[in-house]
Amino acid sequence: MERDRDALGYEADGVVVKVDSLEHQRRLGSTTHHPRWAIAFKFAARQATTVIEAIEVNVGKTGALTPTAKLTPVELAGVTIRNVSLHNEDEIRRKDIRVGDTVLIERAGDVIPYVVQVVLAKRPADAQPFTFPSECPACGGVAFRPAGEAYWRCTNSACPAQLKERLRHFGSRRAMDIEHLGDNTIEQLVDTGRVRDFADLYTLTVDDIGTLDRFAEKSAENLVRAIAASRERGLARLLNALGIRLVGERVAQLLAGRFGSLPRLAEATEAELGEVHGIGDEIARSIVTFFRDPTNRNLIDRLKRSGVVMDAPTALAGPKPLAGKTIVLTGSLPTLSREAARELIERSGGKVASAVSRKTDYVVVGEAAGSKADDARRMGVTMVDEAGLLALVRS
Ligand SMILES: [Zn+2]
Repeated sequence: MERDRDALGYEADGVVVKVDSLEHQRRLGSTTHHPRWAIAFKFAARQATTVIEAIEVNVGKTGALTPTAKLTPVELAGVTIRNVSLHNEDEIRRKDIRVGDTVLIERAGDVIPYVVQVVLAKRPADAQPFTFPSECPACGGVAFRPAGEAYWRCTNSACPAQLKERLRHFGSRRAMDIEHLGDNTIEQLVDTGRVRDFADLYTLTVDDIGTLDRFAEKSAENLVRAIAASRERGLARLLNALGIRLVGERVAQLLAGRFGSLPRLAEATEAELGEVHGIGDEIARSIVTFFRDPTNRNLIDRLKRSGVVMDAPTALAGPKPLAGKTIVLTGSLPTLSREAARELIERSGGKVASAVSRKTDYVVVGEAAGSKADDARRMGVTMVDEAGLLALVRS
């Protein structure tokens, strides 16, 4: 009954169990206080009052700062509650939650416990309103709350609390496309302190990686080679990879097209950024804030010194040997990743389609090609391998 409490459709604080047979009830009778044929069971309390001993602010993977109240431990619905999330600055302000306050907390079913309200009658005379930190509690970096958003965020791209998630994004296929940089590897690189920011990736040696758990020399070589290859991705992908707040793939492409190089973008003012079609005030502010941070500027310098290309590919303005051609990719190619092949085709003026049709000009066939190769054969579309694609691009 307690488990199904939420499904009852009415409030209940417990159940009474009774012997069903009237004959048995008669024979059981009662004491002077209660019948012998019925007994009440109370559900565990769902609300309790306790004291907020401290408010801690933690950094999430994306840099969001989330406040948590440390409570005097209290039993609630059969569980000891020691912490309760306060969600964000507005929530704290709305409920005027202060350190030292006695609060009513609630926990219903699987719902995470939360503060219902402050018991104002019990507020200590010296309790101060909570001030949200303007620095990241993990790294001391500048914290920033974008207009219209509920969360303060740490803007330091080297913040250890965010680093793993950022590295994952940096190496992802639509960013720097670093093959072999898996979750397990990232964990170890960060935990051993070998990688503290994106730039450290470019200083890794085969020996460094070889000392990690479950890394054969061959795979260490593969990873080092993949990291080296990622230096050539160009400005748009680098901007996406950097994980600047509100700058995703599309915005990164707009910025790369307009500014052409990272140093030029880093010097841009909010007003200049705002002139770019598709870049709003909030994005402009986020970009300026990012490049103002000395840690981020230092990171960019080190990436540059490692040979990471900071310009938009000049090939954009060059010849377009694949102009007007529609190309389908299938199977895995010997040297180009899927993303690299797509970029090469697009930079050469071609268009990549996902399915073969009569309008397809070429199908690039790799190893373990699937039904698209069959489609190409059936429709008589020209099939080429990777070498054939490279020849087309050079033609
Ligand atoms: Zn931080």
